[in-house]
Amino acid sequence: MKTYKIACIPGDGIGKEVIPAGQEVLQALAAGGSDFRFEFTSFGWGGDWYRAHGKMMPDDGLEAIRGMDAILFGSAGDPHIPDHITLWGLRLKICQGFDQYANVRPTRILPGIDAPLKRCGPRDLDWVIVRENSEGEYAGVGGRAHQGHPIEVATDVSILTRAGVERIMRFAFRLAQSRPRKQLTVVTKSNAQRHGMVMWDEVAVAVSKEFPDVRWDKELVDACTARMVNRPASLDTLVATNLHADILSDLAAALAGSLGIAPTGNIDPERRYPSMFEPIHGSAFDIMGKGLANPVGTFWSCVMLLEHLGEPQAAARLMAAIEEITADPKLHTGDLGGQARTADVTAAVISRLNNR
Ligand code: NAD
Ligand code: MN
Repeated sequence: MKTYKIACIPGDGIGKEVIPAGQEVLQALAAGGSDFRFEFTSFGWGGDWYRAHGKMMPDDGLEAIRGMDAILFGSAGDPHIPDHITLWGLRLKICQGFDQYANVRPTRILPGIDAPLKRCGPRDLDWVIVRENSEGEYAGVGGRAHQGHPIEVATDVSILTRAGVERIMRFAFRLAQSRPRKQLTVVTKSNAQRHGMVMWDEVAVAVSKEFPDVRWDKELVDACTARMVNRPASLDTLVATNLHADILSDLAAALAGSLGIAPTGNIDPERRYPSMFEPIHGSAFDIMGKGLANPVGTFWSCVMLLEHLGEPQAAARLMAAIEEITADPKLHTGDLGGQARTADVTAAVISRLNNR
């Protein structure tokens, strides 16, 4: 029997509620006649670790999880610690340390979810956003001078390398090619950002030659927001820079019904390091500790984790169970306008899995 070693990093806020729920669901899936099992190791990194040790994770933390098959991550963000410390000290440290350069964010309107696009049927919105996850606007290059003085200056320099753009374009074209419509939209802003984004466009043209069967087009990021709302069915796979895709994917999550549902994978396509799967939402300070968090984003992230491990049948079983419970309004959490609790949704998914 295969054993998959999974690092669980709940982090902060509702991460501590949804990650244990995800673990329970994966455990139930493995127990129900699969030919694999999971070995979970939990790491208490995040805001509490910071209070105790002055950092979000130990210096040798990456070494502790390097040998894992995958990472299940909750959220980094604590009401009492500045966001740039929690984000850079944990999540980005893992993403960058393990060169997880492709951030993949599928979006669909699941059954039973009341999404804001009234004219749009469930099949009109089926996107995967590929976010460049290793450089661009979040490369961390920049600085501040004259701090606290009226002449203070602060810069964040966007770094785009030809190698970095090539690898994310190739990943996005390949992913588009694997989907039924074989269609890619390259999101850009080369009208205003006349250096990096122009190279981005040039690389897209060059890489597209390797994928003659993929239909592709180019869209400016601002126009892309309008297109997502007005013509959702005209999009399929999208690729965008770190910042652009960050914003577009929150819009996508909201258009599909709730931030509480959306999953993501931080992927090292070359599989040199473990990849990391997480719901896209944050710590949700307003509801943390109350058992009200929607665990569906974590469950869908578990589906992506299973696909990445090469277990497509188990992934499909879990996705079917998720779609059965979203179809039932009695199992909707508060973010979806319902009354259900995290534990109710988790138990319902597990019981669907046990009955298959
Ligand atoms: P958030 O996602 O935490 O919350 C936004 C709103 O959505 C809140 O009203 C929240 O209650 C609701 N919500 C989010 N997930 C939900 C769920 N699963 N079920 C029900 N409702 C849910 O975003 P924010 O308020 O901008 O950020 C809060 C903290 O989380 C900040 O410190 C931020 O830096 C951090 N954050 C971390 C990550 C990450 O680690 N990947 C992502 C986003 C935000
Ligand atoms: Mn974001």
